[in-house]
Amino acid sequence: MAGKPGKTAPRLLQDLLSYDPRFEERAKRNLLTSAPPHHDPDAPPTAAVPLRNCRHNFLNKEEQSLLPRPGEEPDHATVYKVASYCSRCRYHFDVVVDHRDNGERNDPCRRNNREFPLHHFLFQGEDGRDEHALGGFQTKPRTFRFSCSASPCPTDLSIRITPPRLSEQDVRTLTDRAVLRRRWEAAKLRAGDRADTIMARPVDAPDFLNTYLQDSLNPQKGKARIPLLNRKFLKTFGKDCDSILEKVGFTSAVETDDDGSPAHVWYLPKPPPAGHPLDSTEPTQRNLIEDVRYELNTIILDYPEQERLGARHVPMNPQFARHPMERALGCDEYPRVKGRTATRSANHEEDHPYYAGLGAVGDFADELLSFAYRRQMAVDEANAPYYFECLQDLAVGRGSESLQGEVAVLASQGCFKRSEVTFAYRYFDIEPAHAHAINDDHIIGVFRSRLADISQATAQESRRQLQIIGLARGSDTIKQAASDSMETYEQALSYLGMDKGQDDEFIPTMALMKTSENPANKDTVNRAIQIIAEERNSQRLRDYLEHGSMAPAAMDIGEAYAILQVNDRTVYLEPDILASQVQSLIESNPDSIPRIQEALTIVRQDQESRFGKSSDYQMSSTVDYPVETWPVGCCNIGNTCYLNSVLQFLFTIKPLREMVLNCEGNLQKLTPEALETKRVGRMAVSLARAETGQQFVRELRKLFDRMIRARTHNIRPERTLAALALTRGEGVDSVVEPDTVQLGLGEIGGLPVSGPLPPPTKADSAMGDDDAAKAPEHDKKGDNDDAKSDTSTTAMDLTDSLNVPAGATPSVPEPPSRPPPIPPRPQASADQGFKKVEEVARQQDAAEILNNVFDLLSCAFEGESTLRDGEQLDLIKKLFFSDVTTVRVTNGKRASKSDLQDNVHVSTKDRDRTLCAALDDEFGSTELEGDMIKFELFEEAAPIQIINVRRLQYENGRPRKDESHLALDKVLYLDRYLKKTKTLSEEQLQALRDDQWRLQSELRRLDERRRTLKETDFEKLDLPSVLEETAAWVETAQTEMPNLFSDSIKTESNGLASQLGQRAEELRPEISELHGHMDKLEHEIDAVFENCKDHPYRLHAIFIHAGSHSGGHYWIYIYDFQNNIWRSYNDETVKEETEETIFRKVQRVHPPTSTGIVYVRADVVDEYTQAVCRNPETKDVEMKDAEAASGQVINMDTEFGNIEVLDGVPKE
Ligand SMILES: [Zn+2]
Ligand SMILES: [Zn+2]
Repeated sequence: MAGKPGKTAPRLLQDLLSYDPRFEERAKRNLLTSAPPHHDPDAPPTAAVPLRNCRHNFLNKEEQSLLPRPGEEPDHATVYKVASYCSRCRYHFDVVVDHRDNGERNDPCRRNNREFPLHHFLFQGEDGRDEHALGGFQTKPRTFRFSCSASPCPTDLSIRITPPRLSEQDVRTLTDRAVLRRRWEAAKLRAGDRADTIMARPVDAPDFLNTYLQDSLNPQKGKARIPLLNRKFLKTFGKDCDSILEKVGFTSAVETDDDGSPAHVWYLPKPPPAGHPLDSTEPTQRNLIEDVRYELNTIILDYPEQERLGARHVPMNPQFARHPMERALGCDEYPRVKGRTATRSANHEEDHPYYAGLGAVGDFADELLSFAYRRQMAVDEANAPYYFECLQDLAVGRGSESLQGEVAVLASQGCFKRSEVTFAYRYFDIEPAHAHAINDDHIIGVFRSRLADISQATAQESRRQLQIIGLARGSDTIKQAASDSMETYEQALSYLGMDKGQDDEFIPTMALMKTSENPANKDTVNRAIQIIAEERNSQRLRDYLEHGSMAPAAMDIGEAYAILQVNDRTVYLEPDILASQVQSLIESNPDSIPRIQEALTIVRQDQESRFGKSSDYQMSSTVDYPVETWPVGCCNIGNTCYLNSVLQFLFTIKPLREMVLNCEGNLQKLTPEALETKRVGRMAVSLARAETGQQFVRELRKLFDRMIRARTHNIRPERTLAALALTRGEGVDSVVEPDTVQLGLGEIGGLPVSGPLPPPTKADSAMGDDDAAKAPEHDKKGDNDDAKSDTSTTAMDLTDSLNVPAGATPSVPEPPSRPPPIPPRPQASADQGFKKVEEVARQQDAAEILNNVFDLLSCAFEGESTLRDGEQLDLIKKLFFSDVTTVRVTNGKRASKSDLQDNVHVSTKDRDRTLCAALDDEFGSTELEGDMIKFELFEEAAPIQIINVRRLQYENGRPRKDESHLALDKVLYLDRYLKKTKTLSEEQLQALRDDQWRLQSELRRLDERRRTLKETDFEKLDLPSVLEETAAWVETAQTEMPNLFSDSIKTESNGLASQLGQRAEELRPEISELHGHMDKLEHEIDAVFENCKDHPYRLHAIFIHAGSHSGGHYWIYIYDFQNNIWRSYNDETVKEETEETIFRKVQRVHPPTSTGIVYVRADVVDEYTQAVCRNPETKDVEMKDAEAASGQVINMDTEFGNIEVLDGVPKE
């Protein structure tokens, strides 16, 4: 029985009331027998029941029923039958509830049974379904069988559904006026003068038929025979109703009349006498006649009274069958929640889908909801997270304390929601939909590969997520891996947020905190306590582990708030502000640390119960750095860790930071006139785009301000900021979608190539159509050698119209190209929007975000003047944009074209190399078709140079990350890439370049040879290895499988293995020789410009990525030129880093690699960069901020906004 959800009796009955066998195909499932699809809270509400379905009005067929008697309790011999039909669709529904026991099960569920107050039915099967029914339209009776899932309950239920005895066609034949007129005409022809003078009324045929059938059930002498030539019969039924009459049991005969002429007559049906309702499972002919009469009763009563004047029909008044059904199913008097009874009427209002998920209905009292949950769990444990989600959300939606308490208990036992499982998979970059195809080892592998690079706090989070996956998959291996990854005493203490000075007394509190954060932590918490217990040799802790005692002294909630000096406990406390409050309390009252921490625990729990769980209750870490002079970290707010790197980088660019902090005076005026001439990234700037930019600037200012004033070591960026940073153009709804990514470097295997995006083109182009994409520059190939020409899309074309892409001519005024942005919707969708953002974020990288941020800033700010093509000149352009000229030489003729670019791209090409060598490659000459060569130089080099490293490569049909090491110099001389330097003229530089290119072309030749040797069709094997493997195989085969080789081959192959081996030995040195030779050449290439050192740039920042091509973790190293130190900014942690760590090549699988490198012109490093900018506020001001911010924060985290009954379903 396991693995199939069930339905409580009221739910089943409710489903029966709206199950319409006629429209089963449309509902795409059998509403009666199947469980509803799992509800997606993010999807728009849909009607669970198709609108056209009949909402049945069941009327009881008394003669065929065996109803419960008032006050009767079923026992193990009771069978009920409620035979009924619907007065709307005329279908027949026979509900048979059979309580007869089979020996073991003899205690039917009933209201006063505490364990099983209601039946919980599991569908067992169906009889009579016609698989070939036309359009799924079932014309035969079908019987659905269910049985109760409660172990002591013997109840079986069968529901027989029979289509109307009189089909729609039958009814038309009997009542259609046109048909009746033809019948009357036929009667006149046949009977002449004897025919009636008026045609039959529509009500007549049903009325007469009803009378005949009534007579047949109560036979009376002389009434059994009807002559066809009877005037009324002839015009009412004629000959064309024969099939209907025959169907209900009439028989016809030709008799000789008194005058000897033949007479056609009909005889009434002769049904058997009435029997017991349970005598036969198949209906008797008597039942059939009864059914037809019920249908006729409905048909006749459908006519207005004046149209049935004189009818002989005596209206039948069958009783409603719903109440007897409820009684038979034992669900007529279940405990209901007050005020929700309305939803039970058979109108179109539906319960929230979570009710149906539990097999419950909306008016269930709390205890029945929890009963329904337990029943579903008992029969379908595989969907436990869904049922838990249903129960939890309903508990919150109802505001039910008892249910929430129960949910909390369940959570403490390790229950979790579907969304938590989904989140956990995504956390490890695993698509939840594919999770079933991924084995445990792979997941553990991803987890382990990350551990090395992440902070302690993030490691804990990873562990927690892994634990959830372990529980969801029921995998002990994964659970073990999640808790085992903690080994040392220090790790254990840090995990619990403790330090060595704190004694055992605190452990239960900290453990409780961890498990209340997430029950999935339980195993890990126990593991940590175990480690601490061993280290301290503490019997008390061991006791605690075993018995769970050693409870902390209880502290009153009010007291806890008072200790933390919070006056109003009804407001939301922003976690980092609370943490800073606690920290300052601890600093001033070091003796009260235990009490403060206890109070903090209680306040947090209280806050969580009031405002929902917040994942960011981080203990302020035990960092030693002084708050006043150390940069703050940014907590990770989703799958957006590179965003933090970008934000940290931007913060250190002093002029940019100051412009943002003092933005108000410089913002773009938003008048149509002012915007008319504004061009950013060659595009006109719409009002919406400028507004989005300004919204971003204000959010960024807020963040920068907090980074300066926070009293804590880290803060939490707001989601709005993240959403905007990832937004192209006009608001959060227009988040960069992967398809626009294609415009840039293209994508590989669905992932964007690791490089910057061009500024908005397609998505935001006022032309907004394919023209922009078809422009010549938009080379979509994304091939390595050509990719740099692609980056020219980032820049404006500053030459004459020759190269201006069609459709992008900036002087043409912009027609409105898209509807105005949708106004922001309240709360729930804000969260949804962010989910979308997170989704996109997973597919982007830091360079793309940086590029988008520049675009947003330029849109937001007023330009100082204009450049070529009307492009706006502003601070962003001045700081980051170089004017890069691409020169093409054909037969000595030079043609050049200049573009503004905010970054340069380099490739490592699968070789450890220096940045200079990679840059030489990019700028150096490339041979193109038709004897054309191409190279690039800086017409004007920006003071801040951003260099992006293409890490994504494509190999054997799969994307792969190029993990070669890129050696960085602390000083980079740009001389060789410039048009001219301080000491060298254009010609002198070109002469040096020619020398260099000659060496480079030799280098390329060697590289090609190396690739041939290195790359084979075998993954991870170079050519020598392939040869060796083959040799080894041949050898083994010869000794172990001698029959494989015929004699002739044997002789020939005798020397084969050694030949292969020999060749491999020759090749292997060739490869290493090649490497040596290439290194030497690169050195010579580098040496060409040895003395060109007029234009030094200093290394400022390095974006680092660790992980595989499909995901991983970002952080950034930033140099502080004022204090002469390096720091690593890894989400919430900012710490000093040694040069050794930063510059070394890491030897391991998936080493961290640089993806972006920033150099700053040596003469302006102090003017343009400043890593530390701190001015922590006093705490009073902080608390005021907390109150001001509270309302907004709550909204963002409200998860249960749409829990009420769905009103969105239109009523008929
Ligand atoms: Zn109906
Ligand atoms: Zn039962």
